Amino acid sequence: MPNCLFCKIISKEIKSNTIYEDEKVVAFLDINPKAPTHILIVPKKHISTILEMEEKDKELIGHIYWVANNLAINNSINQEGFRVVLNCNKDAGQEVFHIHFHLLGGRKFSWPPG
Ligand code: AMP
Ligand code: ZN
Repeated sequence: MPNCLFCKIISKEIKSNTIYEDEKVVAFLDINPKAPTHILIVPKKHISTILEMEEKDKELIGHIYWVANNLAINNSINQEGFRVVLNCNKDAGQEVFHIHFHLLGGRKFSWPPG
């Protein structure tokens, strides 16, 4: 998708701190981390918001949680705990309109979220 920041990161037109990649997803460090561990897991397919997810994407979204689990273990945040967050549209604060799952850990989080 032209002018999509995360498509440009996926195509390596823009540099990122990529820590994991497979045929379906890329995971890289958030440029402005909100926790000691803050990784973005991004599908290579451009989907602007989770509302644009199609039925055929169900496996892809499940795969993202599988990758999140493995990254949580590899980054040693699995025992203490972590969050996987997806923001959708204005009130949730979505800034980049290519879906991404925030994997956050390394500190205690409040509930309910701010
Ligand atoms: P959201 O508000 O859910 O759309 O999250 C967008 C996230 O992308 C924010 O946490 C930003 O810090 C992060 N971000 C923006 N630009 C970059 C970039 N070039 N590389 C890595 N993370 C980025
Ligand atoms: Zn995109």
